[in-house]
Amino acid sequence: MMIDEATGRRRSNNLILDTALRDFYSAADEMHLSEGLIQILSYPERRVDVSVPVEMDDGTVKVFQGFRVQHSTALGPSKGGIRYAMDVTGQECEGLAMLMTWKCSLAGIPYGGGKGGICCDPTYMSHKEKERMSRTFGARIAPIIGRWSDVPAPDMYTGGQEMVWIMDTICKMLGHFEPAMLTGKPIDYWGAPGRTEATGRGLAACAFELMRQKGLDPTKIKAAVQGFGNVGSYAAKILNEAGVKIVAISDTTGAYYNPNGIDIKKAFEYMNTNPGKRGRKLTGFEKEGCEKIPGDEIIGLDCDFFCPCAAQGALNENTAGKLKAKYVFEGANSPTTPEAELILNDKGVIVVPDFLANAGGVIGSYYEWAQNLQGFTWTEEEYNKRLVALMTDNFRRVWDYAQEHNSTMRRSAYIAAIKRVTDIVELRGVYL
Ligand code: GLU
Repeated sequence: MMIDEATGRRRSNNLILDTALRDFYSAADEMHLSEGLIQILSYPERRVDVSVPVEMDDGTVKVFQGFRVQHSTALGPSKGGIRYAMDVTGQECEGLAMLMTWKCSLAGIPYGGGKGGICCDPTYMSHKEKERMSRTFGARIAPIIGRWSDVPAPDMYTGGQEMVWIMDTICKMLGHFEPAMLTGKPIDYWGAPGRTEATGRGLAACAFELMRQKGLDPTKIKAAVQGFGNVGSYAAKILNEAGVKIVAISDTTGAYYNPNGIDIKKAFEYMNTNPGKRGRKLTGFEKEGCEKIPGDEIIGLDCDFFCPCAAQGALNENTAGKLKAKYVFEGANSPTTPEAELILNDKGVIVVPDFLANAGGVIGSYYEWAQNLQGFTWTEEEYNKRLVALMTDNFRRVWDYAQEHNSTMRRSAYIAAIKRVTDIVELRGVYL
């Protein structure tokens, strides 16, 4: 662990954790938080590291490293996704769990923050290998998972199938069924209609509210969406349905550009029918009337909205200067480094920060959890209505605060989120 000798505060070599710590410290100082509260919230309450041995299809055994971090349970059970990716580390999960604490707090939902993951490349693994890995991981984190303690959900490279494997394993260990222990489940298996689109829908709700505040006409807006996974694809679709022109989309194969607008419906059809080796679903999409350009170049395209919905750190000191868009909606977690943020602020770019812009996922998870606890299912219409209303309200609160205090949206969101958590920590005391 790295401690800055002068301040006694944490730093990290991991970009996500370091960004989360720096953003937190700087907001906390502006709020004049006591050093004790700052120290408490800069560490996770609990971190469990597990090894995950998996029998591979060729008969060999590989051991993967897995993690589950609970940053805070001040407001309720910790909540956050589980990701399968090569850069997953304990520290990365610590940073992402911290971000979840602020995300849940800002949204006003009754959760603390958590995160987990396994360091692996799932695109090289078979279905059966992923099943064995998910089940063993589930069994090893089982002691800290539960509907009133820690509620996982999907994240990068995980979805309903992984949630079923993990939940099924833990339920077998418990000897009873407990559907509210995790969210993002398939609709027919205690999932919630609307959850799949929820993060993209929430991001779009922020964009619509921004357009209302600024008097912008959606049909005159051009947007570029980096990443065409669960978040980016639905955000692009919902914005496009309202008349926004999506001039570029991208995935790990590159970016696909059409200044006259991409037919997003066609992109969905293409993605759903393209077998796309190792999840590379947009391979060959240039055939559908687009120009293929290197993935990174999507940042410099001529457009009004830029939505980074792919990996962390996409907007960094090398790329931020190239951005032409005036507004950034962060669909990914931690896509902007603090250095890039300064560059963007100087350019007058308005950044709608991740823990506001992509909160639709966890808000949707909260609705799924609430339905599971009641054993009662809402309609998709009801779910979407509540989601959009809450996202719009969150956006407006942060927007108004930023306008009033002449501050950035990230700083304003941090102040509101930290305040709710620290008020409760003070109320409950240090012994949590
Ligand atoms: N993985 C999503 C996120 O980062 C959703 C988390 C959840 O629903 O618990 O916000």
